[in-house]
Amino acid sequence: MADPTRESRTVQAMHAIDAITGAVIPPVHPSTTYARDTHNALIGGQDYRRPQGPTEKQAAGVLAMLDGAADARLFSSGMAAIAAVLETVPAGGHVVAQTEMYYGAKLLMQRAQKQGRITLKLVPPGDLDALTAASRPDTNLIWTETPANPSWAIVDIAKAADIAHAVGATLAVDSTCAPPCTTRPLELGADIVMHSATKYLNGHSDVLAGVLSTRAADERWDEIGVVYNETGAVPGAFETWLLLRGLRTLFVRFERQSETALKIAKRLLKNPHVGHVFYPGLKSHPGHVIARTQMTGGFGGMLSVRVKGGFDAAARFAAATKLFIQATSLGGVESLIEHRKPIEGAGSPVPDDLVRLSVGLESAGDLLADLGQALAVAHDQ
Ligand code: PLP
Repeated sequence: MADPTRESRTVQAMHAIDAITGAVIPPVHPSTTYARDTHNALIGGQDYRRPQGPTEKQAAGVLAMLDGAADARLFSSGMAAIAAVLETVPAGGHVVAQTEMYYGAKLLMQRAQKQGRITLKLVPPGDLDALTAASRPDTNLIWTETPANPSWAIVDIAKAADIAHAVGATLAVDSTCAPPCTTRPLELGADIVMHSATKYLNGHSDVLAGVLSTRAADERWDEIGVVYNETGAVPGAFETWLLLRGLRTLFVRFERQSETALKIAKRLLKNPHVGHVFYPGLKSHPGHVIARTQMTGGFGGMLSVRVKGGFDAAARFAAATKLFIQATSLGGVESLIEHRKPIEGAGSPVPDDLVRLSVGLESAGDLLADLGQALAVAHDQ
């Protein structure tokens, strides 16, 4: 028999049968400390939970397999994972990131710049000429996010990797919205991939966690390991166990979410109250051609619309849905809607009338009907 696919291995959490009990579902290991024998030798090879216990090791193993990585580490949140990468940039080091990306990560980098810890250049996502121009011999880190919040701009990962490597920089990719069932950045040439596991990987909006995976167990990865242990931003065992449970259904969830999101994007294109639809699965999306080769398992459940009527109409639309829940975050089984501008604040480049949707697993017909009625309500006023 040929080796099982990544999908099959994920469903079974890599065929993890508990050696002692035969349990098909792995146990949770909450212990923070580990015993020694009469010779003071560790019984199980580890002495303390930080940096990782057996449950975290098991989940990290599945994630490394999924990402095609030499190694993976689990963090207590996506932001903790991003902070660990940033921490490895030498003092005064040059970082290139995106004008459009998860705003929390951008704020963290801008803060490091204000403190004089790094120098930072932001370029529009997907603009490879701007990325080339921004990359210097002293560039230490290029940070990309694809698809990029909230217009879902697509970055050509293979080309971005070439640009980074030409100047000796590390390419890190925030692949939160394109989990490894659809995109594997390391196989396209990226050095580090980061996921907010809070989103699609867990998929049930009940775990906060982050992941870093690496193409090579190199010097930077060792340093990330030191930061990981010394700052202690490790996830709890129960959270990790829940993440492992959610991961098992990643492929089937993402496929259905992608299918429904495409239906919604196509329908919204025809809605007279909608000015623009951003979804990489639409032929009209500027990144569609690259997305087709880079997102092989679906374009995902994230889309955004610009609502005719400006800020107020967008606010009314998001408030008028009955099935979509007005809340932040993404990638869960429940569909969410969010008027982005009030969330990101006045300094954000996000348009006033942009509403972001995270498509869940409800019936497509119900979701379409809900959006239709909410747009009508928003424009009746
Ligand atoms: N990256 C992206 C694309 C995100 O959407 C988020 C959170 O919304 C993060 C990173 C941060 O992850 P976390 O909330 O798990 O810290």
